[in-house]
Amino acid sequence: MAVLPILRMGHPNLRKKSRNLALSEIKSPTIQKLIADMRETMKAADGVGLAAPQVDFNYRLAVIEFDQYNTRYADLGTQGFTIFINPKIKLLSTEEAGFWEGCLSVPGLRGFVNRPQKIEVEYLDENAEAHKLVAEGFLATVLQHEFDHLDGVLYIDRIKDTKLLAFQDEFRQFILKNPEEDIEP
Ligand code: ZN
Repeated sequence: MAVLPILRMGHPNLRKKSRNLALSEIKSPTIQKLIADMRETMKAADGVGLAAPQVDFNYRLAVIEFDQYNTRYADLGTQGFTIFINPKIKLLSTEEAGFWEGCLSVPGLRGFVNRPQKIEVEYLDENAEAHKLVAEGFLATVLQHEFDHLDGVLYIDRIKDTKLLAFQDEFRQFILKNPEEDIEP
């Protein structure tokens, strides 16, 4: 396994639309190694999610994993290491809620983004088996953030009020009222 370099905003490959993986590719040693490397890279960067384009592979593949330690907020729940391949999102509610998002490809910044808070995701796992997941709240936000990467979209594209974009230090100093709300997807 290896920690891979993470592309940062400005790199053109972060803005490409990624392609689906074929069933035969998913089980290949190349993709299995990529999944293991993405898990290690996400952990090393202390992230809660990572999409393949962020490590310069334009495949529709993302991984997430979080617990109360790295969200610093127990009520947001826990999600074990999960691999999403060729995910498709269906909105189950148009009701939106906002979180202060961050991104490993946009280091040092935080921005407030509203997203639908109940979605259904159809995806394949690392064995190319199909799954369906209903996600709400923080998990719904994290998944939409990661899957946006597969279409070349960054969270900053979705900030409606750019006054709600801040450097991390200033965010903590002036905006964050309650340290328990300090969340970095
Ligand atoms: Zn991101």
